[in-house]
Amino acid sequence: MSSSAAPAAPAPLRTVVHKFGGTSVADAERYRHVAQLLLARDEDVQVAVVSAMKGVTDALIELAGLASSGRAEWRERWHELRARHRGAAVALLGERAGTTLEWLDGQFDGLSDILAALAVIGELPREALDRVQGLGEVCSARLLGDHLAALGEDCAVLDARQVLVVERSDLGVVVDWETSARRLAEWRAGHPQRRVVVTGFVARDRDDRVTTLGRNGSDYSGAIFAALYEAAELHIWTDVDGVLSADPRVVPEAVQLESLSYDEACELAYFGAKVVHPQTMSPAIERGLPIIIRNTFQPAHPGTRITSARDVSGPVKGLTLSPDLAVLNLEGTGLIGVPGTAERVFAALRDARVSVVMISQGSSEHSICCVVRSAEAERAQSALLGAFAHELAIGQVQRVQLTGGVSVLAAVGDGMAGQPGVAARLFESLARARVNILAIAQGSSERNISVAIDSADATRALRAAHAGFWLSPLTFSIGVIGPGNVGAALIEQLRAAQPQLLGKANLDLRLRAIASRGRLLLDERGIGDDWRQRLAASTLSTDLDRFTAHLTAAHLPHALIIDCSASAEVADRYADWLAAGIHVVTPNKQAGAGPLPRFEAIREAAASSGARFRYEATVGAGLPVISTMRDLLDTGDTVTGIEGIFSGTLAWLFNKYDGSAVFSQLVAQARAMGYTEPDPRDDLSGTDVARKLVILAREAGRPLALEDVQVESLVPESLRQASVEDFMARLQEVDAAFAQRLQRAAAAGNVLRYVARLDGEGRASVGLVELPRAHAFANLRLTDNVVQFTTRRYCDNPLIVQGPGAGPEVTAAGVFADLLRVAAGQGARL
Ligand code: ADP
Ligand code: ASP
Ligand code: MG
Repeated sequence: MSSSAAPAAPAPLRTVVHKFGGTSVADAERYRHVAQLLLARDEDVQVAVVSAMKGVTDALIELAGLASSGRAEWRERWHELRARHRGAAVALLGERAGTTLEWLDGQFDGLSDILAALAVIGELPREALDRVQGLGEVCSARLLGDHLAALGEDCAVLDARQVLVVERSDLGVVVDWETSARRLAEWRAGHPQRRVVVTGFVARDRDDRVTTLGRNGSDYSGAIFAALYEAAELHIWTDVDGVLSADPRVVPEAVQLESLSYDEACELAYFGAKVVHPQTMSPAIERGLPIIIRNTFQPAHPGTRITSARDVSGPVKGLTLSPDLAVLNLEGTGLIGVPGTAERVFAALRDARVSVVMISQGSSEHSICCVVRSAEAERAQSALLGAFAHELAIGQVQRVQLTGGVSVLAAVGDGMAGQPGVAARLFESLARARVNILAIAQGSSERNISVAIDSADATRALRAAHAGFWLSPLTFSIGVIGPGNVGAALIEQLRAAQPQLLGKANLDLRLRAIASRGRLLLDERGIGDDWRQRLAASTLSTDLDRFTAHLTAAHLPHALIIDCSASAEVADRYADWLAAGIHVVTPNKQAGAGPLPRFEAIREAAASSGARFRYEATVGAGLPVISTMRDLLDTGDTVTGIEGIFSGTLAWLFNKYDGSAVFSQLVAQARAMGYTEPDPRDDLSGTDVARKLVILAREAGRPLALEDVQVESLVPESLRQASVEDFMARLQEVDAAFAQRLQRAAAAGNVLRYVARLDGEGRASVGLVELPRAHAFANLRLTDNVVQFTTRRYCDNPLIVQGPGAGPEVTAAGVFADLLRVAAGQGARL
């Protein structure tokens, strides 16, 4: 045995402070859960700081207000609140509740004495309010303490009003550390227990009056006691998995942050992310104490660790929104180059006890703008009007303007410092979501960029920015009109592609509305596989105003309507939708080929709002016809001629028509195979082909109308008015004429094809023509379409786009491709 070894120093005691918010102690069941959570942890010293039961502080403040304004219903409320506490005690402690109930009754009797006094004096002095509103924590700590004791734990309950001494000042609540530490040491001498339950929120001031740390102050209590106890860690238990990248109530896609630096947490907390109280940080930061925000409902989840360590994985960690603000703008030519203006502004605001949330001044010095709280806005405005009365009178200052209904959106992250492009990304996301920015501020720490925006845009802005920084997917609120063949195929394609787009491209295409001719199906989160049944069972009748309102009401960054109807009334709405920033994608030819004024209004609306209008699938279904031409034009080429076969039905008919069968027989066959419209005259009349030619002509820069196209209809005059059945029965009347044309063509070595043409002079025609057997158009397969562009660059050898040009699947795919192009234009990385 060696006697030289010094006895080992006892390992320092490990103390951990746990703070439980109101949601964690909402009722007896939750207290039980908290107790189990505490008992499962083996800390040497364990301090639990508790809030009042959820809603109790609000209820107490209401009681004080009612009593002091002489409203007799305070008694009823008081009874309810007492009953809630007694109920929790009985549920928690059962037969052992006796002493707790007596104690609670004593507390509530004391409360009713104060309230009765307030009712008499008809006023609500600060100290009385503090006494009343802090009672919830006093009761809460006792309930948890008694429950732990009933479980056989030796635990002490500390009423923080006995030890914690603070001073309230303009800068908030400052702790008197010395006195508090001394009092705590005295208290601990008489209470050596391993487990201690402490009241959050409440304290005493230097004059020994009861006070509180301000709303949500229990987090601060947690940090203060962590400091006083020299704890190793502070765990703040709440009802979410930690600090999220944004308030989950506004951005449901918000993601949990594994870690934050103190600086980041302060910026986030300051700008309204309520999960941590800003002051909480100071005692912890000074001592380098880790703060862990975690979920009482998921105790196994590691939560968010807030320490001094910086992890700069991305530029922005989180975003916050502060509501209820106003912008105050002081503007004047007389301010330019005058030193001390800012000082006078802030001095005036300080004297009026207005706190300034955000400041921005352009380098022209023509105006100074600051953001203040709504409640203080008018006071702030009169302060500035007063301070600059002279300058206003002599015209050196033109105005002191107040804009209410403002929110501040802040993007926060240590990784922003020195990284170019962060502000651009923020502004771009906001611009794409059509959010107007009223003022901008970035501190030189570069850890926070703040923008003031109209509160009406706030939710959309937060979601757009959140998606813009890839913190959540880029989300589109999508509505489909006309779930017929193409519409239904599109919905299926969309549903099938959704998981992949979300996983790989972080793009969330959320189908939230479907309108058929008669019915409307609306859904908040996104319509699933059962859309047919749900639409069939829907009791809402179609109302496009309602459809539109639903799409935009979600405040998702982008809304997009897919019109798969063939309706002109729907096309009448495009301009309004686009003007409102809603993108429109469609295979409906009404807009592209309809009246020119409507088409121009649509284009203007799109150009001025930035919303996109795409209709690739109107020509050649899924074939890239319009986009190919746009690429040609965008790169400086000129289209001198367009020619092609734009109808799958007519392509098939004339590919087959070699004389072995009569024409009417082929039409009947095509109809039977579903290659024609239900009324084949819709195909044979050539109007549909003419519409497609008009669309291409307009894209090529020629403002053509349908009437300008010379159309050869294959339906004889005599059959135009007949019923479909009659028409089919009598179609053989045309067989002889077609046979003759075919013979004539064959004799010259040619074939017949139904061709659309736009020439260099802008002449447009569609009709049956003879082409040499070797011509490209003479050798198409089945229902293939072909479009041939002659341009300045492609003059000797035209550019040809060819392939299947009809059918619901390929048409839907063309629409889908448009949708993805719109998404890419809004920043999706496809
Ligand atoms: P407690 O009762 O535990 O004190 P609070 O209601 O004060 O809880 O704070 C937790 C709530 O803060 C969460 O339920 C959440 O809705 C909200 N919250 C706001 N912003 C954020 C954010 N960025 N991260 C996490 N939660 C947030
Ligand atoms: N109960 C107090 C409040 O609601 C303190 C807190 O819970 O943080 O403001
Ligand atoms: Mg809280």
